[in-house]
Amino acid sequence: MDSRVSVLSPYSPSYADDESASKACAACRFRRQKCKGDCLLAPFFPAADKSRFQKAHRLFGVSKMKKILESLLPHQRAVAMATMIYESEVHAASPDTGCLDIILQLHSQIE
Ligand SMILES: [Zn+2]
Repeated sequence: MDSRVSVLSPYSPSYADDESASKACAACRFRRQKCKGDCLLAPFFPAADKSRFQKAHRLFGVSKMKKILESLLPHQRAVAMATMIYESEVHAASPDTGCLDIILQLHSQIE
């Protein structure tokens, strides 16, 4: 499996003791806005991981990611974001094919 991508364990939403709690998340920092306590993207894009946000933003855009998260129940959001982050990491690593190589690889394992 691809070791470049490690998104299946998203950051915990409860990092109140963490130093990054006082900073804006990478998404709010990019948009130059204040990161409020109810920021939907903060749990997934901590300020320290700008690269992860940039890849996801390039592929999906902030408003689309927020729209998807708002349409989901809270317990579904981590899986949805892990999926979007995974896809954006793979897409950044292989822009021509994106997830197609992985899908074909898994498909051949099934056969
Ligand atoms: Zn934020």
